Amino acid sequence: MCAIEAGKSGRRVAVLEHADRLGKKILISGGGRCNFTNLHCQPENFLSSNPHFAKSALTRYSPQDFIALVEKHGIPYHEKTLGQLFCDRSARDILGMLEDECQHAGVSIFLNTKIQQVERTREFVAIATNAKFRADALVVATGGLSIPKIGATAFGYDLARQFGLAIRDPWPGLAPLILSQEDCCRYCNLAGVSAEVIASCNGQQFREKMLITHRGLSGPAILQISSYWKQSQPILIDLAPGSEVTAAFRDSKTSRNLSTLRAELRKVLPQRLADRWLDAHAPTSWTNPALAEMEKQVHAWPIAPTGTEGYEKAEVTAGGVDTNELSAKTMETSKIPGLFFIGEVVDVTGHLGGFNFQWAWASGAAAGRAL
Ligand SMILES: Cc1cc2nc3c(=O)[nH]c(=O)nc-3n(C[C@H](O)[C@H](O)[C@H](O)COP(=O)(O)OP(=O)(O)OC[C@H]3O[C@@H](n4cnc5c(N)ncnc54)[C@H](O)[C@@H]3O)c2cc1C
Repeated sequence: MCAIEAGKSGRRVAVLEHADRLGKKILISGGGRCNFTNLHCQPENFLSSNPHFAKSALTRYSPQDFIALVEKHGIPYHEKTLGQLFCDRSARDILGMLEDECQHAGVSIFLNTKIQQVERTREFVAIATNAKFRADALVVATGGLSIPKIGATAFGYDLARQFGLAIRDPWPGLAPLILSQEDCCRYCNLAGVSAEVIASCNGQQFREKMLITHRGLSGPAILQISSYWKQSQPILIDLAPGSEVTAAFRDSKTSRNLSTLRAELRKVLPQRLADRWLDAHAPTSWTNPALAEMEKQVHAWPIAPTGTEGYEKAEVTAGGVDTNELSAKTMETSKIPGLFFIGEVVDVTGHLGGFNFQWAWASGAAAGRAL
């Protein structure tokens, strides 16, 4: 996106890519259909040490701008849920569109070109194994640490440090959580079972699906909350959002016993999960206070993950180049004129739902227009 915008304004642009093709993350995104933006994109959908930083770029390149580009290229798309836009056919449509736009803007693309070192003399010199590139501006768009098997590296952070820029410690965001051995023994053979829950932690909450996995928990609600979770904190799960599972017991004709309670819980949770959860959380008695305590537990089940599945499975890397080092308008570093950082390498991380691409497009456009 940065190359396209800079090329359109007449700059000579080279994209240096170490893989044998561009946009591998685009191709694997959104289950192969690329959730390329979100209709409801707001600054609140991003984590950053400075929550105001992303506002300027996001306002100046909106989801509507990207949708206009998608429509100009006749790419069919649909809203899946919660404003999330996906390709009808394949993520290849989005990559093809960006490649076409690069071509029209006269951008040169160098594949199999891994930059190993950057020097700064009067200009920037980016050094690959068999080539050197010189330019008066350098934009670092190397992404984060997520999915090392498709080539993610710490190169962007190393480069920032080399130029004396501060980094906010990175951590895996949008990652599945691993349960303690005890919880795993209890729940993980229900792998594949899912339920709509509210997951909350650190003042954030997400109402979406939770999925049980072989090692713990995943699904959108869990991925979302994982970005906010810090080791040793509990995550609270509301297993029955908006329902009162013990309401039936207010009727004096309802018998207060486990099978009635199980039947009530099965109305809001998949049967196997309801039964398994109740095995461990049956009320201690059938008094009103004991039932009230049980109701509380259903809506705030504390789980204590032992960790996340890490960068191998994380959709995004949170943290990154400190936004205090960058202009919010152009993404240029204040210490080194001509040096820019955009996309995931910056300490701006989106929620699940197309926000990370929207940040990549918006920050890319901001830098590209400033070059
Ligand atoms: C499985 C998965 C699914 C996802 N699905 C979605 C989704 O549907 N919607 C969404 O919004 N976000 C999604 N994301 C997140 C999104 O893909 C990223 O946030 C986004 O791609 C970041 O863009 P970027 O340009 O900053 O970095 P990247 O897309 O990671 O691109 C960085 C590029 O730099 C290259 N590079 C790195 N180091 C060097 C070097 N030294 N020399 C030369 N080249 C180098 C890499 O090869 C890579 O091509 C998903 C992520 C994953 C892992």
